[in-house]
Amino acid sequence: MPIIPADQATQEYDVVIVGSGAGGGQAAYTLTLAGRTCCMLEAGRSYDPTTETAMFHTPNQAPLMDVGTPDKPFGFYDATVGGGWQVPGEPYTSAHKRPHEEFRWWRARMLGGRTNHWGRISLRNGPYDFKPRSRDGLGFDWPISYEDVEPYYTKVEQLIGVYGTNEGLENTPSSPEGVLLPAPKGRAAELLTQKHGKKIGVPVIPIHRAVLTKHLDWKTLPAKLHPGNKWAQDIVAESMANRSACFWATPCGRGCNAGANYQSTTVHIPPALATENLDIVSDAHVREVLVDKDNKATGVLFIDKTTGKEARVKGKAVILAASSGETVRILLMSKGRGGTSIANSSGLVGKYIMDTVGARLSGHVPALENLPPHNEDGAGGGHFYSPWWLYKEQKAGKLNFARGYHIEMGGTRYMPGGGNPVPDDLSKGSYGTKFKEDARRYFGSLVTFAARGEMIPNENCYMDLDPNVKDKFGIPVARFHWTWSDHELNQAVHARKTFAALFEAMGGTVRPGQDFEPANSIQNPGYIIHEVGGAIIGADPKTSVCNAFNQTHDCRNLFLMDGTPFASNADKNPTLTIMALAWRASDYLVDQAKKNNL
Ligand SMILES: Cc1cc2nc3c(=O)[nH]c(=O)nc-3n(C[C@H](O)[C@H](O)[C@H](O)COP(=O)(O)OP(=O)(O)OC[C@H]3O[C@@H](n4cnc5c(N)ncnc54)[C@H](O)[C@@H]3O)c2cc1C
Ligand code: SF4
Repeated sequence: MPIIPADQATQEYDVVIVGSGAGGGQAAYTLTLAGRTCCMLEAGRSYDPTTETAMFHTPNQAPLMDVGTPDKPFGFYDATVGGGWQVPGEPYTSAHKRPHEEFRWWRARMLGGRTNHWGRISLRNGPYDFKPRSRDGLGFDWPISYEDVEPYYTKVEQLIGVYGTNEGLENTPSSPEGVLLPAPKGRAAELLTQKHGKKIGVPVIPIHRAVLTKHLDWKTLPAKLHPGNKWAQDIVAESMANRSACFWATPCGRGCNAGANYQSTTVHIPPALATENLDIVSDAHVREVLVDKDNKATGVLFIDKTTGKEARVKGKAVILAASSGETVRILLMSKGRGGTSIANSSGLVGKYIMDTVGARLSGHVPALENLPPHNEDGAGGGHFYSPWWLYKEQKAGKLNFARGYHIEMGGTRYMPGGGNPVPDDLSKGSYGTKFKEDARRYFGSLVTFAARGEMIPNENCYMDLDPNVKDKFGIPVARFHWTWSDHELNQAVHARKTFAALFEAMGGTVRPGQDFEPANSIQNPGYIIHEVGGAIIGADPKTSVCNAFNQTHDCRNLFLMDGTPFASNADKNPTLTIMALAWRASDYLVDQAKKNNL
């Protein structure tokens, strides 16, 4: 991929984009195809999935049989070639008081960011999710509704390719006819959960994931995405035609060298580069947005990691999409009007950060023992899930928490890695032939359910700059503050109890060592890697940082196009919404630039 050195980014670009993941990738795609010149700055190294993805290696070819290490927490083959739970020389701190409130921060430092690895679960927020406060009086309503975002959900689904079905369930939106790709069949554990879930009222349906279960229709889709722009249509058609359909090869977390799933590096960046309107500077760690006397952004200041020197790039508009925590940090580092940080007249930059409520429970299901050997690798991730189903009970006041969770399920006969395939309490110390029999018997019968739930934003969950700790560039690091409310703790306990009921319905048992204590049930904040918020969207500049188009109220040519503007964090995984909003905001940016309004 053509990447330019920092000292060649000398022109004044129409737009400077910070970050190359879901948000930055979508912005670059939309803007360059609309004819805007862009410079994308990426703190990590360049990365090309077509040549760097170890798709066909088996775990026994990897060091430690692909078991996770501190350097590679998700295993040797994981697509994250830079970053992880720790980034060398770039620490962060947590001001937590209780162990289960210590924030964990996953940062990918590479072209494409976390989209190279992510789980590809792509759920639309529903109508309730944009107006949560109107329903239960908690948190914030968004200044936009589902109808405002719906056309962009459709466009993103058509561009990236999402499999799934339309089931017509409450607050679980359907996509227009023909938009979703065919859903893969359920695997044994998923089908068994579906069958027995019915007994206790838990629906189990095909999940939506950004994986091509068939080749994209490159002949008709580009005209739908870019009506009236033949030049853009041709570029997008070629890029789509280059992507293969999934051939059920390997875990998608390694990335896909065939372009059969969504990563920014295979879907957004190639057509953006093909426009010749995009320059990418990698190894460029942005420290701050530069602002003139009229409080307009003029570009950004960054550290060129190849030389260690400071450099600048000029833009008529600036988009921050560095992932929500990093975007907040850049905002707090940037000097705005009146001595405060940029875009912070409300004092709300860094406030109301949210993650997803995570809770999991593992069980053993004898009905899944000794299944005949068969290949369940499938589409490299989940095929089925359970959307939140207790809206009516919640409305009737029967639950002790607000908002819902969905259930993701694991438990297949995918290729095992280096971990012990049979827990010791089941194998009871067997070895040799007996251990092999035990491995065949138990493999696939251990199932895990995981909740992904909505948390309510609260003023005790925020981030600021640590006054005492700096990173290797001399920039103050992010410090996280966190307090779960009873809503999240009670929700996590409810989820675990539901999972126990599911195991019982399936004739299984909960694995030892798991309880229903709130602090043990909830996973640490940040652990689900769905952090959003910190510069929330709203109609009133006094109570929000961004307006309805991700544009900061204070600085008209500064836009935030990652998860920072989220005013709530629905149980639906955030990335599809980040992309839909980034497309919408980019269209608005183009329109405003044409009208000279920035
Ligand atoms: C293991 C895992 C599984 C996940 N599964 C799902 C899922 O199934 N569904 C879902 O919706 N979401 C999932 N996510 C979350 C998803 O990856 C993120 O929501 C999404 O990538 C966010 O996009 P982004 O553009 O905001 O940030 P990122 O994709 O993280 O991209 C940000 C980019 O900005 C760069 N950057 C950071 N700081 C700077 C700086 N100062 N200067 C220049 N560049 C900078 C980073 O290096 C990075 O490349 C998962 C994440 C992980 C890690
Ligand atoms: S499972 Fe399919 S989409 Fe995922 S990496 Fe393998 S071929 Fe690509």
